[in-house]
Amino acid sequence: MRREWHQLSYPGVGNPALQTSRPSTDSAEDEALGLDHWRTLPRVQVPPWPDAGEVASVCKVLDNVPSIVAPYEVDQLRVRLAEVCEGRAFLLQGGDCAETFADNTESHLLANARTLLQMAVVLTYGASMPVVKVARVAGQYTKPRSSPTDSLGLPAYRGDLINSLDANEAARVADPQRMIRAYANSAAAMNMLRAYLAGGLADLHGLHDWNKDFVRASPAGERYEAIAREIDRALDFIRACGMTDSEALRTVSLYCSHEALALEYDRALTRVSDGRAYGLSGHFLWIGERTRQLDHAHIDFVSRIANPIGVKLGPGTTPDTALELCEKLNPGNVPGRLTLISRMGNGRIRDALPPIVDKVTAAGAKVVWQCDPMHGNTHESSNGYKTRHFDRIVDEVLGYFEVHRGLGTHPGGIHIELTGEDVTECLGGAQGIEDLDLPDRYETACDPRLNTQQSLELAFLVAEMLRG
Ligand code: PEP
Ligand code: MN
Repeated sequence: MRREWHQLSYPGVGNPALQTSRPSTDSAEDEALGLDHWRTLPRVQVPPWPDAGEVASVCKVLDNVPSIVAPYEVDQLRVRLAEVCEGRAFLLQGGDCAETFADNTESHLLANARTLLQMAVVLTYGASMPVVKVARVAGQYTKPRSSPTDSLGLPAYRGDLINSLDANEAARVADPQRMIRAYANSAAAMNMLRAYLAGGLADLHGLHDWNKDFVRASPAGERYEAIAREIDRALDFIRACGMTDSEALRTVSLYCSHEALALEYDRALTRVSDGRAYGLSGHFLWIGERTRQLDHAHIDFVSRIANPIGVKLGPGTTPDTALELCEKLNPGNVPGRLTLISRMGNGRIRDALPPIVDKVTAAGAKVVWQCDPMHGNTHESSNGYKTRHFDRIVDEVLGYFEVHRGLGTHPGGIHIELTGEDVTECLGGAQGIEDLDLPDRYETACDPRLNTQQSLELAFLVAEMLRG
């Protein structure tokens, strides 16, 4: 029987609850691990903290707080991602573009988690493949920006960990104390998610309850209900055969992830366990398209921690760069350690991705290939909203599958921005959202997210592609 993180023990590790970690500050071991080397390197997207002394004192606090996640969970995720790497599982990652303190509520967290879990059910059932579920949650509080100022001429909003979305000068001043609030909100979010997951949030016996009322009557909601009925019958069958219900049908592991952008925060939450450094601000940390320079601070920092790491690859990525990232971030060629996240745009994926996959594969580098069909497909609507069209998102995923099928590599996963609410941020889908509908419920703090119906529609299409 497959066991979940709260039940798992590791060969050689013993009881994971006894595998403790310690703050990683000031020792010779940390020096050897090079956890602060990034401070000496060039770095872009530096939060414009006004006072270095205050940053240091906040980080001192974070150096000693209980971490958000535990080392054995991080190791467990890497093992699961190794299955993805070897073509035996699929990685589903999604959530808000930017979490906010105001929206870090029980209802928002549950709605997002349920949507991700619904997508996972569609994919697991539709493609008969295990799905590794990773949420953009409990730490997705920083945003890289293309411009230091916004359209109003104010300093850009950089995520709630750094400054406030409110549209005035004072609110946009970077405030190091926000790192403490981000930590507290992340801890609260994980606490709540863990409690609900252990209490049956993901119990396959309650699949119908996951479908929100506003989704139930939609085409995707109806298709989901049909799958839920089939799974009910399968569960009845299992019971009728006298097989006992397994724990695996009642719980799932939902891992948390965020972009490692404000290195002060992720460094302060790094702990050492059994001689290895773990970034315990989240299970999976990724480096964005704007901060992945090989000899800069971000790549150096994540090269030194044991977590599964993702790196976004935009359409300008050269095959050589992709391979250098593999060598730098995964010198031991450990499967599950590195995920390369292409985000090319639907117009570029079919020509930009193949040479990258070719080069990395020919070198024998083990990576999970994941597709982010969101960030290369953003445009401004006729009425001035930052939006994305569902058709382009689907087309990028299609292109990604075509490329990998053509080269014989595993299309290992998708990475999307979604919410469990009925928002109008992305165009199209069965609801036929148009430019003029966008103002109805445009609620994102940053990039436009798929709403629940669009997320489910996408899951059905991806399940078909996976079945191939
Ligand atoms: C994101 O994932 O929200 C993001 C900013 O992505 P990228 O670095 O690919 O632009
Ligand atoms: Mn985004």
